[in-house]
Amino acid sequence: MTTPAPKDDCIFCKIVAGELPAEIIHATELCVAFRDLEPQAPTHVLVIPRSHYENAAELSHWEPAALTDLIATAQAVAETEELGEGYRMVFNTGAAAQQSVFHAHLHVLGGRTMTWPPG
Ligand code: AMP
Repeated sequence: MTTPAPKDDCIFCKIVAGELPAEIIHATELCVAFRDLEPQAPTHVLVIPRSHYENAAELSHWEPAALTDLIATAQAVAETEELGEGYRMVFNTGAAAQQSVFHAHLHVLGGRTMTWPPG
């Protein structure tokens, strides 16, 4: 299968291409992990596939190996960020769930005690 081309107006495609700055802390053949601009926890990292898919469901359908790599990378980030007490992984999917960037991304949050239910 061929992977989709970068989307011209997508900020995360631009980060993958090195056209927008980001504090990249981990990268693999399939994904890139960088710090969120507006952190909601002491550690707040976004793990994104290099290919453009609108959300996690699209990614799982078209490139399941990349979805698996996102999860494995989240664990690698948790280890380097010393989140041994626990961390949260979040995929916001759709506007009502507060998805604001429509390039699939996994939030990795840690370094503080989380509450439940989420807002
Ligand atoms: P979501 O609301 O789930 O779509 O998450 C998008 C996230 O991307 C938000 O937490 C933003 O703070 C973050 N964000 C947006 N632009 C950038 C950027 N250029 N670099 C890093 N994080 C960003």
